[in-house]
Amino acid sequence: MASLLVMKKELVRIGNQLYARGMIAGTDGNISVRLDDNRILITPSGLPKGCLNADDLVIIDQNGEHLQGIRQASSEYLMHTFVYRNRPDVMACVHSHPLYVTAFAVAGIHLAVDILPEVVVSIGGMPLTDYAPPGTDAVPKSLAPHIEDNNAFVLRNHGLLTVGRSLDEAYNRQEVVEHYAQVVHLARQLGHLDRIPTEDFQRLEKMRQKLDKAWHENQ
Ligand SMILES: [Zn+2]
Repeated sequence: MASLLVMKKELVRIGNQLYARGMIAGTDGNISVRLDDNRILITPSGLPKGCLNADDLVIIDQNGEHLQGIRQASSEYLMHTFVYRNRPDVMACVHSHPLYVTAFAVAGIHLAVDILPEVVVSIGGMPLTDYAPPGTDAVPKSLAPHIEDNNAFVLRNHGLLTVGRSLDEAYNRQEVVEHYAQVVHLARQLGHLDRIPTEDFQRLEKMRQKLDKAWHENQ
């Protein structure tokens, strides 16, 4: 595990990337990384994520108790701690409000997975959760039916949560899902969505499961 300062710098970098890519506005978004069995490094509440300093970051435990840092943890800490308690494989969570994914979340349109082969392999399902007011314990409840088998969650009337085995993987999944939502939106405007043939879709699903299994075996 990298040193705490390195992890803080990485988290600050991801905040910069989210802002640079236009995936957050104002003080939107929150990012966290698992430091060890109990400690989670998380962005603070109320600060723009595009210009954070390492000292702004907060350390909490898996139950959300404040352990370190002069600021208050993100108001979405319940969502983050829920993920870490329920997914031992997850090392990082990224939440943002990217334009296209959030538009699908507002329109209540589920992003089907069987459209682009690479997305089947790298992401898997992108469930649309039930509506939950941000920052409340309704958010983890809305994730509960989906948490076990998915890496990206479209939060209804809200935004996008992605998880990963590293900060970069969780962040890259943000970019991939937002890009995917753009493609799906454009194809819908053109009038037609061709789906991946069932047989190949099943092959791609197996490929993702095989890659996940290989990763677990190497841990
Ligand atoms: Zn949000």
